[in-house]
Amino acid sequence: MSLFQVLQAVPAAFVLACLLLGLMVGSFLNVVIHRLPRMMERGWQRQCAELRGEDVVPHAAYNLLVPRSACPHCNHAITAWENIPVLSYLYLRGKCKGCGAPISPRYPVIETLTGLLCAYAAWHFGFGAAALGALLLIWALVALTAIDFDTQLLPDDITLPLLWTGLLFNVFGVFTTLSGAVLGAVCGYLVLWSVYWVFKLVTGKEGMGYGDFKLLAALGAWLGWQMLPLIILLSSLVGAVVGITLIVALKHGRNIPIPFGPYLAGGGLIALFWGASLTQSYLQLLAVP
Ligand SMILES: [Zn+2]
Repeated sequence: MSLFQVLQAVPAAFVLACLLLGLMVGSFLNVVIHRLPRMMERGWQRQCAELRGEDVVPHAAYNLLVPRSACPHCNHAITAWENIPVLSYLYLRGKCKGCGAPISPRYPVIETLTGLLCAYAAWHFGFGAAALGALLLIWALVALTAIDFDTQLLPDDITLPLLWTGLLFNVFGVFTTLSGAVLGAVCGYLVLWSVYWVFKLVTGKEGMGYGDFKLLAALGAWLGWQMLPLIILLSSLVGAVVGITLIVALKHGRNIPIPFGPYLAGGGLIALFWGASLTQSYLQLLAVP
């Protein structure tokens, strides 16, 4: 029996494989979350310098692979043994091996979260194209959530490929029909775009960014237009609860932007796993005479 056949035949083996894969990808997502916004900022600075006609000073290479991960305090290079998801953090008791500076618990949290979501997707969908799609969607949503939380940005480098990939999966009808996916992408963008302009015309403020429209377009491309009302409802509910809590409990200024991307991503994940049954039950509620 090949490994492929084992994963296909034994559900527990598939769940375990996806858990391990999720932990490892979660570790890479930590790098993406940390570096992608900095890479974008460098790109903008370079473009501005070019527009001003200044000489562009060549920087040392900085991308997702180079330079190697190092402690930000003492520059101690992270070895392979110190880079095992979650286990290394526990073994090092959350401290750098070089200088003892604390390592952010966010690293193991992102790894664990990604691993568990991937394991759940494997269990929920079983071996096949839907599980593969769910893993890709989960990875993108975890990265987008953390980046939006840190920087209030949802990079096009993630949202746009996510949209194309969703359409591609649904060419084969994995999550919805192709027409459902195309309409989902268009309507997802237009709904938030309209909300943005109405809000801006009424209040003169910008309530959200273009990244939010692209993220909802991507979720529409993956899950179909039918899931958009549920995603918007869930993300607005959670967003309102968290937003009001922040303003009341932490005296978070009303004008400090609260990123909307994490709520959209959360709404998207709930719709991915339970959207069909949730939609069915609220349609049933509406149908009660
Ligand atoms: Zn250190």
